[in-house]
Amino acid sequence: MSRSTDYDVAVIGGGVIGLSIAWRLRECDLSVAVVDPAPAAAASHAAAGMLAPVSEVRYGEEHLLALGLASLRRYPTFVAELEGRSGQRVGLRQDGTLIVATDAGDRAALAELHDFQVSLGLDATLLTSRECRSLEPSLSPEVRSGLLAASDHSINNRRLAAALVSVARTCDIRLLTTRVTAVELAEPGPQRVDCEDGTRLIADTVVLAAGPWSASIAGVPAQAVPPVRPVKGEILRLQVRPGCPVPGHSVRGLVNGREIYLVPRLDGELVVGATVEEMGFDTVVRVGAVREMLRDAHQICPGVDELALTECIAALRPGSPDNVPLIGWTTAPGLLVATGHHRNGILLAPITADLVADLVTGVDRAGELLELVSPRRFSAVGT
Ligand SMILES: Cc1cc2nc3c(=O)[nH]c(=O)nc-3n(C[C@H](O)[C@H](O)[C@H](O)COP(=O)(O)OP(=O)(O)OC[C@H]3O[C@@H](n4cnc5c(N)ncnc54)[C@H](O)[C@@H]3O)c2cc1C
Repeated sequence: MSRSTDYDVAVIGGGVIGLSIAWRLRECDLSVAVVDPAPAAAASHAAAGMLAPVSEVRYGEEHLLALGLASLRRYPTFVAELEGRSGQRVGLRQDGTLIVATDAGDRAALAELHDFQVSLGLDATLLTSRECRSLEPSLSPEVRSGLLAASDHSINNRRLAAALVSVARTCDIRLLTTRVTAVELAEPGPQRVDCEDGTRLIADTVVLAAGPWSASIAGVPAQAVPPVRPVKGEILRLQVRPGCPVPGHSVRGLVNGREIYLVPRLDGELVVGATVEEMGFDTVVRVGAVREMLRDAHQICPGVDELALTECIAALRPGSPDNVPLIGWTTAPGLLVATGHHRNGILLAPITADLVADLVTGVDRAGELLELVSPRRFSAVGT
């Protein structure tokens, strides 16, 4: 028999996006339920935790940059509040990202990236090979040039997600560890959210934040289904051993045109990633992917050979057609989406939570940003 409960907002999906939204909404004094069969266990668990809008900027993605910079600015306060509330440290590092290149083609690509960053007014400095190694003695002598994006940060995304789960519990957010099977949306509300365990939630607003699964919830009208797809990423975790030289900053490398990154944690872990593959919902870790990532990591930081390989996993980024997330009201009554964060969901969690809180409470603090992420830019979705 189904059980019903009333909430102001029901959030489908408890990754960093759904959990951050739930926390912000709860702070607005709204009653909130989050439904997820395995909270904080998907891409939010796998990610590297780079908060790096400057080093990751790409041609044609200026909207994403604006959003990323706005979220990065919010991060120190977001973390201070979260750590204060949860009593847990989440490992925010504000020591910049170093991008390095080895062969002539990669050096030219780095110089081009620098020109682009400067044209956008971003803080990025080109470094010689000697300057790179004095900043990061663990780098290979093969490194010929570098680029320092001093304002980029990183975070331990697993600690971040754990702290968000803990805050959800202490802030009186209901966390249901079951799967949403369907929604029933009607004008006027309230809306209904049906769960696998028989629970039926009744809520004024439903927030769809189920990552790449957001397109597969029964009952969402076709014109409101967000156009998201899974983008596979394989990623490794290494553990530093005494006496092994490893980077102290996040290091991104260009190796024969391929991108590799090494992200150090405060606790001695080194995250190495990541592949970007269009493979549907496949999460098999391929031997070839592990081999290539380790070879490229070794090319820029030979010391990785001495570290312990502790984890190889794959997860699914929620990709959108233009790599910009979809955050906003849909045409379906009471349904808001917050998904499609692709390779930037950890970075974009604070701004996403604030934008959704503004939408639900009817406050307009960031109208321009809301335009950039509006689901209305895809004709089939939004109002
Ligand atoms: C290898 C890799 C490296 C990455 N590195 C970075 C990085 O360095 N920096 C960065 O900013 N981002 C990074 N990302 C991207 C980032 O991880 C994602 O953008 C982010 O985690 C998306 O969060 P989410 O909450 O939308 O989705 P997810 O973390 O995927 O969470 C979605 C949740 O929805 C739940 N769900 C699914 N179906 C249902 C249902 N029917 N009912 C209820 N719940 C459901 C799932 O169980 C899951 O917990 C990386 C991603 C990968 C894969």
